[in-house]
Amino acid sequence: MKAASLASPQDISKHPLRIVEVPKPELAPGHVLLRVLACGVCRTDLHIIEGELPPLRDQLIPGHQIVGKVVDGATPEIPMGTRVGVSWIGGTDGECWYCQRGLENLCDSPTFTGYTVNGGYAEYALARADFVFPLPTSLDDLHAAPLLCAGIIGFRSLRVAGVEQGERVGLFGFGASAHLAIAVLKAWKCGVYVSTRGVSHRKLATSLGATWVGNETERPPVVLDRAVTFAPSGDVVVAALASLRKGGVVAINAIHLDRIPEFDYDRLLWGERQLRSVTNMSRADARDFLQIAGEIGLRPKVTPFPLDQANEALLAIKTDSIDGAAAIIP
Ligand SMILES: [Zn+2]
Ligand SMILES: [Zn+2]
Repeated sequence: MKAASLASPQDISKHPLRIVEVPKPELAPGHVLLRVLACGVCRTDLHIIEGELPPLRDQLIPGHQIVGKVVDGATPEIPMGTRVGVSWIGGTDGECWYCQRGLENLCDSPTFTGYTVNGGYAEYALARADFVFPLPTSLDDLHAAPLLCAGIIGFRSLRVAGVEQGERVGLFGFGASAHLAIAVLKAWKCGVYVSTRGVSHRKLATSLGATWVGNETERPPVVLDRAVTFAPSGDVVVAALASLRKGGVVAINAIHLDRIPEFDYDRLLWGERQLRSVTNMSRADARDFLQIAGEIGLRPKVTPFPLDQANEALLAIKTDSIDGAAAIIP
């Protein structure tokens, strides 16, 4: 099969992914073999490919937002031909302290799709049968792909922030995750206040129904109940904190931050304001979000790229030269 493979991490401008012919994955017990129909491109892929996350395999096929059709290993629950999604959380041990308490997103030995195991930048991919999610028929392959990480993690961020119906919610940064989260917030009748860099991101936020849109240095005109930050910047976290009412929550949706700058505790955190991080996702997050996405007819903005142009797709994400999301169609 054809695949985009990484041997050694490098800056994406050097085209570190090679398009190669490799053997189709062999079916393993407890797994399904998928014909990949689309695979979303995530910023985490970029962190892996450029080496910000340490390499764990000699050769890696990245990609963890897989839309695929079951072609082998079918089970009564997932019959042959079922269209399923695979996300970043490709498996857990089911045994650690966290798994036993229903906190599988914090599992001590997780499997990460497209990082600890091969992912979906290929014609076929192997996935654990208990970590695939049937997809709503209302979503075609291309538009389902970005939901599988950006969408689910954006949804989890809203949960971690404790968002309730009708609240005032700030989104700091407006990339792939935020542009999906806003649809859920609108369905929940929330006011949405977006601070983001870039004219095109602000235009997109306005067109998707944001209550207020400003640039990254502007403060929302109201105090917020909740905020989610998407930029890998501690300054943004502090700006979000400064926008909260007493008892409000900031959920930080970033795998790593440059730093957290010193800030004034008395003014910014006292009053039971909270800072929380968002780490991975659970299967329940995936199922609940996909159900809502189907119900509200969520349709992400997504640009398709052929597999041969995997490097270009990642470069487009890095340089913010497309709005919304990107997906590879092998
Ligand atoms: Zn575990
Ligand atoms: Zn991701």
